[in-house]
Amino acid sequence: MKTRISEKQLRRFHRLLSVKMIDFDCGEICAPQNNGIPKCCENEFVVPVLFREEYNWHRKNGKFWQRMPPKTKEIRKFIEESETYYVFSQCPGPKDCRRSKRSFNCMIFPFEPYVSREGNITGLMFVEGDKDTCPLIGKPQKTFNPAYIVNYVKFWTEMFELYPEEKEMYMKESRKREGKAKKKGKRFRLIRSEK
Ligand code: SF4
Ligand code: SF4
Repeated sequence: MKTRISEKQLRRFHRLLSVKMIDFDCGEICAPQNNGIPKCCENEFVVPVLFREEYNWHRKNGKFWQRMPPKTKEIRKFIEESETYYVFSQCPGPKDCRRSKRSFNCMIFPFEPYVSREGNITGLMFVEGDKDTCPLIGKPQKTFNPAYIVNYVKFWTEMFELYPEEKEMYMKESRKREGKAKKKGKRFRLIRSEK
């Protein structure tokens, strides 16, 4: 399979997403209600997928990430239906976490890119779920560091050039999520990246 993300680009992505999303440690909010483990660090809670190049890059520098066979029916189905460029893997957990080893997925949670009908990223949508899924879901715009929002958009814009399949997927997802909110008569929450 052709390599689409160069090491230089991987390092750039990591740098972009290393800017703090918020000014506090959100793990302190959710971990106490979850046996001391931040919810998104629970393996298989946020489906732990790395891009193939990302996985190989980390593996060149150690065994922090290990391929993991899916343990539940839902995860197995997700993997079977997913793109083949994802690697389903696990980390050693929060006690042994190292910032430099975090996956892109760790650094973008709880957001997904909102892609307009014209194909531009005009905001950040929260992943599906509620405050029990992640206490950051539904927080107002001012909670999030503007520099992180800018970098988040840069990350996905560049990623979409390398993986147009991702753009297509998030375009569909954005329409789906808007539709769902409309059907329920709810406001579609978005963190705006364009003023
Ligand atoms: S992103 Fe959400 S789930 Fe993860 S540590 Fe922060 S509050 Fe908890
Ligand atoms: S790498 Fe760190 S931040 Fe990511 S899931 Fe593992 S423990 Fe959590």
